[in-house]
Amino acid sequence: MTESESSTNGITHAAAGSPPAFSWDDWYASIGGRKINIPEVDEYLDKIYNDQYLRFEGDTAIHKTTFANPEAAAKLIKEKAESFGADIVGICEIEPGDIYKGKTVTEKYAIAVGQRMRWRAFQVVPSKEAAIECLRIYYTLGETVIELANFIRSLGYDCKVEHPIGDSDVLHVPIGLKAGFGELGRHGSIIHPKLGPLFRMGSVITSLPMAIDHPIDAGIAKFCDNCRACRIYCPAKAIPDERNAAAGKDHLGNDRYQVDTGKCFPYFATHYYCSACLPVCVYNHKEWAKDFEGFETKLFPKVIMEDPPPPADDIAAEKRHEYPRLKR
Ligand code: SF4
Ligand code: SF4
Repeated sequence: MTESESSTNGITHAAAGSPPAFSWDDWYASIGGRKINIPEVDEYLDKIYNDQYLRFEGDTAIHKTTFANPEAAAKLIKEKAESFGADIVGICEIEPGDIYKGKTVTEKYAIAVGQRMRWRAFQVVPSKEAAIECLRIYYTLGETVIELANFIRSLGYDCKVEHPIGDSDVLHVPIGLKAGFGELGRHGSIIHPKLGPLFRMGSVITSLPMAIDHPIDAGIAKFCDNCRACRIYCPAKAIPDERNAAAGKDHLGNDRYQVDTGKCFPYFATHYYCSACLPVCVYNHKEWAKDFEGFETKLFPKVIMEDPPPPADDIAAEKRHEYPRLKR
């Protein structure tokens, strides 16, 4: 963090290059409006805006619980987050680059929580079923971060809910990367070594002193360089072939893959939140296959595309990923 990026009194300002804060209504208006009319989706949105938002605030206990050390505090917080429904949880310090432009944050730490989405709902993409699953997980994640925030307040520490959708102060992806959730995939989502990219994130920010986690290098970014499944199957052709030096670096120092949001967002808003790049991601179908007790699965989703993918012959030989042949 440089001096010009942060200010005094424990207030952290957004870095100069941070993206502007997200406004869903303006965003949908800018791309011609949201054209997804699914009663179950509307029901979840209604519950998020008219019930969960009202529970973001709460009273902080006067007595402050003290911990033997930051590790003990982190352990308790993580156990609680899991008991409230988190599948993965990690902690990081908030830096200027993690904050939306125009926002300031007084809290020092972010507790990132993730919940896996059900693979069985992504057997066909884009689809109503996949769209409902996206909203279901936003709702249940909302419950998890609200409960976690209430718990932290009961320990005598202020905190703030950063809901997975809505007006967040912090960017979930850099927070999740620093909290050790995984690596940034070609499709712009974090890939967890076990869950793959089929999960969503929210967070709670607080100054309760806690031990932090660290980014991981599990070889996933390198794997992406040889795999192009998401790029081939993206119906909007929004996923790039090459890394782009102008898009900045990921947490491992690689140039980032930059998804063309000008192509993705309008498609996403008019095709059931699309999400095709997540279930086709080959990282990690084995784990997802555990989700099919009692449900039919093909282990690779049917992707509804307006144009067929280009034949593999068009991909230069040096860019193909060759799987070793198995002798049976
Ligand atoms: S959400 Fe759909 S359009 Fe957007 S990058 Fe993924 S596959 Fe492409
Ligand atoms: S489909 Fe392949 S290239 Fe795309 S994010 Fe997943 S592993 Fe990376």
